[in-house]
Amino acid sequence: MISSSFDYARATSLDDAIKRLGAAGGAAKLVAGGHSLVPLMKLRLSEPQALIDIARIKALSNISELDGHIEIGATAVHHAVATSKLLRRQCPGVADAAGEIGDPQVRNRGTLGGSLAHADPAADYPAVMLAVDAEIHLKGPKGWRMVRADGFFQGLFTVDLAPDEIIAGVRFAPAPVSAYAKLRQRASHYAIVGVAAALQVNDGTIQSARVGLTGAGAHAVRLSSVERALAGQPLTDAVIASAAGHAGAEVTHLNADIHASEDYRRAMIPVFTRRALEGAMRRA
Ligand SMILES: Cc1cc2nc3c(=O)[nH]c(=O)nc-3n(C[C@H](O)[C@H](O)[C@H](O)COP(=O)(O)OP(=O)(O)OC[C@H]3O[C@@H](n4cnc5c(N)ncnc54)[C@H](O)[C@@H]3O)c2cc1C
Repeated sequence: MISSSFDYARATSLDDAIKRLGAAGGAAKLVAGGHSLVPLMKLRLSEPQALIDIARIKALSNISELDGHIEIGATAVHHAVATSKLLRRQCPGVADAAGEIGDPQVRNRGTLGGSLAHADPAADYPAVMLAVDAEIHLKGPKGWRMVRADGFFQGLFTVDLAPDEIIAGVRFAPAPVSAYAKLRQRASHYAIVGVAAALQVNDGTIQSARVGLTGAGAHAVRLSSVERALAGQPLTDAVIASAAGHAGAEVTHLNADIHASEDYRRAMIPVFTRRALEGAMRRA
């Protein structure tokens, strides 16, 4: 199908985009990579009267380190995240996830901000943002707001983001002992089950762990029982196997669709939790 007609404007800065969004009074949508929005427009499930293109706002595409924290701008494309030397060294789990998204076309156009705003239940970034305890920085007409990943993903395609706000980027502490593992749909590569793990390890002991799950339910969640089972334990194969063994038991509503039944997803959560934890352990 062909989308309904719309106006198009290219924003020159974050503030310009906020001004244009406000002036449109709810009739406009931001477009970044267009890889989630344009398919919806072609199906006429989304019919904005205007698109405000933020993809070329250079200041929003940074991947940098500032004051001991990693910052990634909202318009950083998945390929840039996947191949960033800084992220490979300081936060390989985030780079892993970006490198697993879709295909080269999707990775060269799709953006971090677009993925977080869209919040597809099978998207990869939400799990890693939970694992690295990311701050999500938003700006709207009333100024800046920061939401932690823990509170950002609220439901199916639902996040803590007002219609007049824009995701500017994310910020998190380095997580060198991190990894991402997913069971992917064969065609799109979206996660049937995706697990991100970030461990704080000192002298062979896991000080703390954060584990994020995507693909399995309506939105990404943390696997708190796995985190508790790991904290204070030695980083060994046996501890990982035991902690991952019951992963997902506390997740009550699992997706069932043409790609996988609820039972299959439930069975795969421990498998991919273990793989993510083993991947992190290899980096310790
Ligand atoms: C064939 C295919 C395969 C895919 N496979 C995967 C996969 O394996 N894993 C995965 O995670 N994803 C996958 N995706 C989705 C892909 O990652 C998209 O790029 C991503 O979900 C959206 O990013 P975008 O920049 O394209 O956003 P757009 O499509 O431009 O926008 C999506 C939504 O976010 C809003 N938005 C965009 N940027 C911002 C911002 N900065 N602030 C606030 N709102 C904003 C838009 O208004 C729109 O509502 C796939 C997509 C396709 C087409």
